[in-house]
Formats: sequence, structure tokens, C-alpha cells
Amino acid sequence: MAGMLYIVSTPIGNLKDITLRAIEVLKSADLIAAEDTRHTKILTSHYGIDKPLTSYFEHNKVTKGDYLLKLLKEGKNVAIVSDAGTPGISDPGAHIIKLAIDNGIAVEQIPGPCALITALVLSGMPTDRFFFEGFLPVKPGARKNRLKEFLGIKQTVVLYESPHRLLKTLKAIHDIFGDIEIACCRELTKKFEETRRQKVSEAIEHFTRNKILGEFTLVFYPSKEEELKK
Ligand code: SAM
Repeated sequence: MAGMLYIVSTPIGNLKDITLRAIEVLKSADLIAAEDTRHTKILTSHYGIDKPLTSYFEHNKVTKGDYLLKLLKEGKNVAIVSDAGTPGISDPGAHIIKLAIDNGIAVEQIPGPCALITALVLSGMPTDRFFFEGFLPVKPGARKNRLKEFLGIKQTVVLYESPHRLLKTLKAIHDIFGDIEIACCRELTKKFEETRRQKVSEAIEHFTRNKILGEFTLVFYPSKEEELKK
């Protein structure tokens, strides 16, 4: 009988943000495939999870995915974890999930943290409809063109962004949508957690004057305040 692929959500910062079921599943799996084994070791050591860890990341996802599929077919239970949050959301998890489904392997998700949901809820912006963009294209032209596609949409937009591209992205948002409201959520659930809800121009000013550190999720409504209130 084939094994089970468990997609396990893990903390996005605070080690306490893990479910009892996630710990149980990680303790019972035959193998844990992690984006960064050293990073995951901190979590497994903290919770006394003593299971073999193997790496599964962007640059080995195809070959390692095939290897994990072989193990699953042989009856092994494999748990996938990412560096933070829910595997499959803007990380290589999506590849193994599709591979398992296409090969008739049963898949279970152990729900838990996900930066996009924490940021969306904290933003105070409409949550009834939202568009999750993940990471924008890296090239400036492609990034602007992608942002332009959100012009006129009546939904909140959530983006993941790296600290070194943050200012450029804020300026592009300002150029395209004007001085709209934005929530810059930084280091969620961590010691230096901060959510700045302000005009894009104010965010640009703040991050020009202060060192940009940590992980960011941006949330904005791509039309003016009057629209947001309707
Ligand atoms: N799978 C993850 C999830 O469920 O949230 C996301 C993985 S993606 C590779 C990593 C990005 O998520 C970071 O670059 C950042 O934009 C966002 N992120 C992760 N942890 C965060 C945190 N603690 N605070 C703010 N954003 C975070």
C-alpha cells in the first residue's frame, strides 16, 4: 500500500505557532522533506521530533520530487515542510503536491500559519475578496506591467516582497495607483513584528529613512480611499 504525503504548516516566526496535529504527524512520518534542513532542525529539536530530514528545495525539487514519489509508492509516509508557513504557497511544495496527486498518492494538509492570511487579516482591508500575487516578477519593467494588471480591480491585493526590493515596489505602487493606503507587515509573529498602515508616500518616506530589515508582506487596495469605504 502506498504511503501518505502530509503537507505540514509550520510557524512563520514564533515557534509556538504549530498545531498538536502537526507535531503528531511529524513524529510519525518516515521522512521529513524540508526546504532548509538546518532551519527545520531548530523546530524538530524544540519539539523532540526525531525523524530523518532530507532537503527538498527549488533547485532539487524535480529530482528529489521523483525520489520522494518512489518512497511514497513503496509505502513510506512523507511529510513536507517549508521554511515558513504553508508548503505550496510561493514555495516548492506545489511541485510535490501535484506530482503525488498525478500519481494517485493520497495527500493530507495539516493547516496552520501562512504569512498571507496573517497579513491580510492584520491589514484591516476588505477580506471578502482578495488577490494573492505571491512574489512579483523581479525585472522592473515586468514588475510594473504586472502591477498595472490590478488597476481598477475591486479586491485587496497581497504581495510577498524581499527587503531589498521593498522600496522599488512601493515606488512602483505609488506610480501606478497613486497615494493609496498600504499595510506593510514585517516580521509577523516575531520579536520585531510591525504592521504599518499608511499612505504609500509615507511608507516610502519611512523606509527611505530607516534600515529595511526582515520579511515583508504587503497588502493594499488598488483604488483610492473613497472606493475602500464603499
Ligand atoms: N509558504 C510561506 C507561507 O505560507 O507564508 C511563504 C513562503 S515565501 C518563500 C516567503 C515569503 O513570505 C517572504 O519573503 C515574505 O514575503 C513572506 N513571509 C514569510 N514569513 C513572514 C513573516 N514572518 N512576516 C512577513 N512576511 C513573511
